[in-house]
Amino acid sequence: MFTKLIAAELQEIKRQGLYRQLRHVEGEQGPTISLDGQEVLNLSSNNYLGLANHPAIRAAAKEAIDRYACGSGASRLISGNMTLHLELEESIAKLKGAEAALVFNSGFQANVGLLSTLVGEGDVIFSDALNHASIIDGCRLSRAEALIYPHCDLDRLESDLRKTQKNSKKLIVTETVFSMDGDIAPVREIADLAARHGAVVMVDEAHATGVFGPNGGGIVEEMGLAGQVLIQMGTLGKALGGFGAYVAGSRNLRDLLINRCRSFIFTTSLPPVVIAMAIAAIDIIKKEPQRRRALRDNSKTLREGLERMGFSLGRSGSQILPLMVGDSAKCMILAERLLQNGVFAQGIRPPSVPPGTSRLRIVPMATHTREQMEQALRAFKDAKEDHGLGL
Ligand SMILES: *Cc1c(COP(=O)(O)O)cnc(C)c1O
Repeated sequence: MFTKLIAAELQEIKRQGLYRQLRHVEGEQGPTISLDGQEVLNLSSNNYLGLANHPAIRAAAKEAIDRYACGSGASRLISGNMTLHLELEESIAKLKGAEAALVFNSGFQANVGLLSTLVGEGDVIFSDALNHASIIDGCRLSRAEALIYPHCDLDRLESDLRKTQKNSKKLIVTETVFSMDGDIAPVREIADLAARHGAVVMVDEAHATGVFGPNGGGIVEEMGLAGQVLIQMGTLGKALGGFGAYVAGSRNLRDLLINRCRSFIFTTSLPPVVIAMAIAAIDIIKKEPQRRRALRDNSKTLREGLERMGFSLGRSGSQILPLMVGDSAKCMILAERLLQNGVFAQGIRPPSVPPGTSRLRIVPMATHTREQMEQALRAFKDAKEDHGLGL
């Protein structure tokens, strides 16, 4: 019975053109990768600054293994709270202009845990319609009422805030750089609304950390809003090139999470080697702003080239360039064609994006060369000129 249901569900996913398969990357993560045996230009990685194979981080990882060995052995509250965890949290707090920070094992766990710790039944979460799956799941798990406002719609957010009872806890949650659209939330206006209506703001800086701000602190740093945004979360797995996540905020917030947050409490802490990688990565993002500039230059080259060809890139204001296709099947055919030309740009379909908005999510890296950007543009031009593709 159960096996038949599994097979039927898979069949249905295939029928809808939404079937996904894992691709195999051999060797390390760089500007090009070996994908299913083919060397391709990688435009589908969140390793924006090229730190996943940075020599200084590799060296820091080796040193941490020599000094602290491998596993952490337990959760942070038992015997897994090691020197490096505390050192990393100090470094993150400083980067974020916050009193304190707490490391989580992943961004997914951080969002789910944060939301379900901070609000509960009787409280209200105001959440952008394009927020990440982990935020959506956090809302569900919290049991608070979730009012989803249309993407970046401040008027609707304000009217929702106004309608909400004065004495309930109100939490506004938004990504700063949106993961699939690359546009940037109006964080200052959101913070102003929050202040006027007695709400607090939580931001997800997954795609902004390392990329925006003079020190790579993210959009909150770039906009100078550390005082107004009470809760800043982000991941160590994207621009920082490693793995793990963080929440930055007040000392009391950190304390409450240590005491109440189930996805922090009931899980083994990250191994010291992973923490050492993040410490080294934060060092590099502060010291090497040229990586942010190179990323911006490459995005600009790609964006301008693609727009000249007549492609629509939506509202992107960041390194993430969504090439809008609409139809899922067409989107996957375009991705296949690019792959034949040695360029890997992942097609993104529902449920990762709303139905009818399938797209290629194109992201350059700081470590791509000018020639590689031109190679990419030639591949897109080729696809565009093939009228069989109907682009
Ligand atoms: C990737 C991502 C996460 C999850 O972070 P991980 O550390 O990869 O689990 C959370 N929020 C957003 C917006 C993301 O893009």
